[in-house]
Amino acid sequence: MPTQPDVMEKLVSLAKRRGFVFQSSEIYGGTGSVWDYGPLGVELKRNIQERWWHAMVRSRGDIEGLDAAILMHPRTWEASGHVSGFVDPLVDCRNCKKRFRADDPKIKGTPGTPGAQCPACGMKGTLGEARQFNLMFKTFMGPAEDTAAIVYLRPETAQGTYVNFLNVQQSTRQRIPFGIAQIGKAFRNEITPGNFIFRTREFEQMEMQFFVEPGTDMEWFEYWKTQRMEWHRGLGLSPDRLTFHEHAADELAHYARAAFDVQFDFGGSLGFQEIEGIHNRGDFDLTQHQKFSGKKLEYFDQGSNKRFTPFVVETAAGPNRILLALLVNGYREETVEGEAEGRAVLGLHPALAPIKAGVFPLVKKDGMPEMAKRIADSLRPSFSVFYDDSGAIGRRYRRQDEIGTPFCITVDGESAAGNSVTVRDRDTLQQERITVAALGEYIGQRIAA
Ligand code: ATP
Repeated sequence: MPTQPDVMEKLVSLAKRRGFVFQSSEIYGGTGSVWDYGPLGVELKRNIQERWWHAMVRSRGDIEGLDAAILMHPRTWEASGHVSGFVDPLVDCRNCKKRFRADDPKIKGTPGTPGAQCPACGMKGTLGEARQFNLMFKTFMGPAEDTAAIVYLRPETAQGTYVNFLNVQQSTRQRIPFGIAQIGKAFRNEITPGNFIFRTREFEQMEMQFFVEPGTDMEWFEYWKTQRMEWHRGLGLSPDRLTFHEHAADELAHYARAAFDVQFDFGGSLGFQEIEGIHNRGDFDLTQHQKFSGKKLEYFDQGSNKRFTPFVVETAAGPNRILLALLVNGYREETVEGEAEGRAVLGLHPALAPIKAGVFPLVKKDGMPEMAKRIADSLRPSFSVFYDDSGAIGRRYRRQDEIGTPFCITVDGESAAGNSVTVRDRDTLQQERITVAALGEYIGQRIAA
């Protein structure tokens, strides 16, 4: 039984109407499972990414940043196991031409046998045998479109980190344990994308590889599990919608020593789903790249005069999925006392909200628009603010509530004399009178809280 309501349909429509997320190439009928982030969506996504970068890189001394290229030497993907192993079993229906993952629970019977029933058209015996399908996107480097020129769009950012392990270590003189963090695009030709931006073929990752001495890996694994769960809570995701899922032995990648997913309850039929993976990958990746490249990727510990291949604890999160989790987590509809119309609110953490404050003149006269515009201009260097003077004030408040703006600043009849404004809180609906000079500090403190 779903424990949380299904708000996905409402969010897809809100996201489009208010400029969070648009269907890619919509005027051509759209591209399957590819989405564009509009003015509010890009702000929200950047705020998530900046918060991650701050927590993982800037605020620590033991993690370095990296921005590796999407296109890599094709041998990388042989070494990593993606050419041979990054596959999903796929089945086709001969009748309706639909495709499914062979392990789709909606399929009745074993694909390829006469008794198997297509979950789309309902025909029996039309499902072909399962075929292995590689999830990597291929393209060609240079003008010749032959096999020698094949390169892949990276399916994860982590490999760019492994191949640069020594470049980063030697250029920064970091000592183990230390980490390397990256934010960037990844591409997977998913067989069953869907659920809005939950599973797409082009997405982003925020990955961090932490290099440790073998034997200390499980301790670091526990440390990172705790850190990462704390981080998700700090975003404002409700603690009862967050949980860990431990990978059982049959779920673990063959090289993985331990893996836990951070799951969020998306509600409806999706329920709890992974938003981040924390993996103890041992020395698999560095060892593979040493084998395939012939170059040593070892660490020399000067203290103990020891040379070894480090183990890796990885944290791998998806900003797109986290953004969706924040929308699902924050969306609520409520009635307002004394008002016929209810309101929709996006309860985003103020630090993540795309717009920090709406600035309104109560009415379009008596110098109020001019004063409100001056206030908006004075706040802009520090905060994203939105000036709005169209429609009734209640309407303007509602428009900001719906996109998660935590504060609405209103210039009213008392403003000119006292050089003050009212500040309305999105969640409590309380209004406080504040001097214009104190506004910047007030908003800054409330965002940081
Ligand atoms: P899944 O089991 O859902 O396919 P995964 O275990 O393959 O995900 P990882 O390789 O661990 O995912 O990637 C780390 C994170 O990247 C995931 O937790 C998720 O947030 C994000 N991610 C992975 N695949 C996609 C996708 N197709 N679309 C959007 N985000 C994705």
